[in-house]
This record gives sequence, C-alpha cells and structure tokens, in this order.
Amino acid sequence: MTQTEQLLNRHRIKPTRQRLAVMDLLLNSNQRHFTAEQLYLQLQNQGDELGQATVYRVLNDFAKAGLLRRNQLTQGKAYYELADDQPHVHLVDVHQGDIVEMQDERLMMQLRGTVQQMGYEIVDMQLNVYVKATS
Ligand SMILES: [Zn+2]
Repeated sequence: MTQTEQLLNRHRIKPTRQRLAVMDLLLNSNQRHFTAEQLYLQLQNQGDELGQATVYRVLNDFAKAGLLRRNQLTQGKAYYELADDQPHVHLVDVHQGDIVEMQDERLMMQLRGTVQQMGYEIVDMQLNVYVKATS
C-alpha cells in the first residue's frame, strides 16, 4: 500500500484512482495553495483525465474529512491546502495574486491568549492579510 493510500485509509476515505491522483499531486507539489481549476489543469497536464466536477467532488471529500483546508483568499476564489501544518497567516498580494505564508508564533500566542480570556479555544482559523509590495 502506498503512503497516499494509507493516508486516505486513516481518514476513512476510500482510495479511488481519482482521489489518489489528486492527493498525490497535493503531496508532491511545491505549490501549497491551489484553486480547484489549477488542480484540474495540472492533472490534465500530467495525463490524468479527471473531469472538473470530479476534482471539485474529491476536494470537497478531502475538506470534509479534515485533510484539506479550504480558504477564501481572493475575489471569492476558494483555495485548498493540506491541513497538515500549524494554522498560519496568508499574505495575499492584491496586485500579483501571490499567496505567501507567514509564520508568527508571537502573534499566534497572543491570539490564543486573547481567545482564552474570552472563554474559548481556537479549533481552526483563517487569517488573510491583503498586501501590496513596497517599491
Ligand atoms: Zn497556507
């Protein structure tokens, strides 16, 4: 059994060919944030004939199972990323469209502390900061 199959099994998702193709791409890419369309096109490029509706369905399954985070970053477009890391801040470049991850442990600690004082704990978060490059 491949690692990808094991991962899907652990999350009680049946490892169909389509799901394995999408997860393999997500795991092996240098890119971390994908729209459904970008994933669809990359799968096409590498010769995996998956319909667009199938890609959407697979991403939805993964998000529901907690494997992916769905993030609304720019102009209503949803981006998917693996939910295998710490919550982080996204810097969204409003001119270039780039998405940069920002790790700031102090900010996170401060957030956790404030949330705790209000009687809650963080279960998930999305923090997007819209930026433009300074010239
Ligand atoms: Zn991210």
